[in-house]
Amino acid sequence: MVKVRGCRMTIEHIIQAIKTYDTIIIHRHVRPDPDAIGSQAALKTIIQHTFPEKHVYMTGEMTPSLSFLADMDDIPDDTYAGALVIVCDTANTARISDERFHKGDMLIKIDHHPNVDDYGDIAWIDTDASSTSEMIYELFLHGKAAGLQFSSEAARLIYAGIVGDTGRFLFPSTTTKTFRYAAELVAWNFDRTALYDAMYKTQHNIARLRGYILQQYSISPAGMSSVKLTKELLQKFDVDPIDTGQFVGVLGDVEGIKAWVFFIEEDDIIRVRLRSKGPVVNDIAAQFNGGGHPLAAGASVDSWSEAEHVVAELEAACEAYMVK
Ligand code: AMP
Repeated sequence: MVKVRGCRMTIEHIIQAIKTYDTIIIHRHVRPDPDAIGSQAALKTIIQHTFPEKHVYMTGEMTPSLSFLADMDDIPDDTYAGALVIVCDTANTARISDERFHKGDMLIKIDHHPNVDDYGDIAWIDTDASSTSEMIYELFLHGKAAGLQFSSEAARLIYAGIVGDTGRFLFPSTTTKTFRYAAELVAWNFDRTALYDAMYKTQHNIARLRGYILQQYSISPAGMSSVKLTKELLQKFDVDPIDTGQFVGVLGDVEGIKAWVFFIEEDDIIRVRLRSKGPVVNDIAAQFNGGGHPLAAGASVDSWSEAEHVVAELEAACEAYMVK
């Protein structure tokens, strides 16, 4: 099969593939966030709404805190026979949730991360997009004239994904296009207040750990901060490692902090979550089995001594940024 890459033409190929296949299965990344679920579920909603006769499913492990967005389908292996598989918001195959993604007839990648792992028969990559959800809205706009149908539920899901990945329109990835799309989305009939409540409601244990971090952080001379969340600390605050995404941005408002890293000790690895207000961090993540965006990236290390190497790299990036 010829591999298709690019932008405008690629969207047309994707719409054509959606029209062609009767069974479509949509995946996204492990440890999902609102953009992963939002883009995945919105795409399913648009396809199902437009083509009610098609069998459209979504799969992947679920995080209870995001169940207000959508529920996954439970599909047997033989569903993949002859199916179109679309993977949203996932840069590399290792991070695709549900390993059966390769069992279909055709594979499509739709993503806004740097294209480090160029998988799929068709790949639509837009690193200028604020979120994959924004790309799904663009796909709808592109296919609208040809009959693609939208709905309030699709608007709610896409809006959630955009809000999540832009930090409520705060991060520099938020463009005029993002605001334009957001303005169109909020014109649909969904309860924005209920959505914000569900996305930003903070459980007491999370609030207390966030407070602890704000009490304890330190800043290096170059403006770097590192936070170590050991198993013991997470147990003490009764916080699941998966929920640390709810407060990894907490140091972003602190005066003088240019970049920061959270280390989260899990059973087998120490998860690394890097965030920045300027110094590029995804190349540091790439040195430690990870990747991501220039200002928000993730990786993993095997020991606390390896974690110190990440800290040293981040400090060096902050120093280099200072002298720029
Ligand atoms: P997180 O800290 O998990 O919210 O991730 C921040 C960004 O980095 C997201 O765009 C993730 O998709 C990406 N990312 C996180 N971990 C990895 C990894 N191990 N490999 C590649 N990308 C990652």
